[in-house]
Amino acid sequence: MQNTIISVKDLKKNYGSFAAVKGISFDVLEGEIFGLLGPNGAGKSTTLEIIETLRNKTSGQVIVDNIDLDKDPDKIKKIIGVQLQTSGFYPGLNLIELIKLFGGLYNQPVKPSEFLKLVNLEDKAKNKYKELSGGQKQRFSIATTLINQPKIIFLDEPTTGLDPQARRNLWDLIKDIRSKGTTVIITTHYMDEAEQLCDRVAIMDEGKIIALDTPDKLIDELVATGFERPKVTKSANLEDVFIHLTGKDFRED
Ligand code: ADP
Ligand code: MG
Repeated sequence: MQNTIISVKDLKKNYGSFAAVKGISFDVLEGEIFGLLGPNGAGKSTTLEIIETLRNKTSGQVIVDNIDLDKDPDKIKKIIGVQLQTSGFYPGLNLIELIKLFGGLYNQPVKPSEFLKLVNLEDKAKNKYKELSGGQKQRFSIATTLINQPKIIFLDEPTTGLDPQARRNLWDLIKDIRSKGTTVIITTHYMDEAEQLCDRVAIMDEGKIIALDTPDKLIDELVATGFERPKVTKSANLEDVFIHLTGKDFRED
């Protein structure tokens, strides 16, 4: 039995008179990759930012690792890893210097080379953040979430805008982080990604959770209603062709 590490009950968020999150409840289990899925504007980032203590909620209850958000948000901050806005990456510093800087901010002794190795960026140690490719930037940003050795990391659309190789590299990295015991909450609007990566998903739409289960169960439920894909699909698609031709290993992504 997995323990509940995040419990959200009847969470609501209004921006003025606009209800962005309309009373959602869900639990995240320790050690899982939990996906918040949904179209733009569904309320995914708002929900994440409230749990991350970065945004005030309107009402509801949030408990993270037995800590009540209303009572001790600072204690929650210490056990979570949050992706920083890229504007926080001082342009004059190289990756080693940036990791040392974040280590200082979190008051954590860090070995920059180990962090860069973890995300396969050893070669870029002396480069500046702005000199990285899109995929490398995301890998670096994920490395920074791990600096305070968090129990939970939050990734808000980490693969948006990346090419297929870079996305697959990132999936491997995220699975790797989870295999070391870290709980991962990720938002995405790529369903293939959620199916590959997530143990359980909550589908959000217009501020509500409209489904929550393992990808497998959700698919089985749909199939049980008699749903069939309109056409028999081929056993490969164009993305498979692309990956097959260009290779899926780490490369200049
Ligand atoms: P998602 O991450 O799923 O795309 P968001 O949580 O960013 O959704 O946004 C949910 C809704 O709340 C959207 O309609 C968005 O326009 C609105 N919203 C988000 N942030 C603010 C804000 N600071 N002020 C007013 N409305 C906001
Ligand atoms: Mg968002």
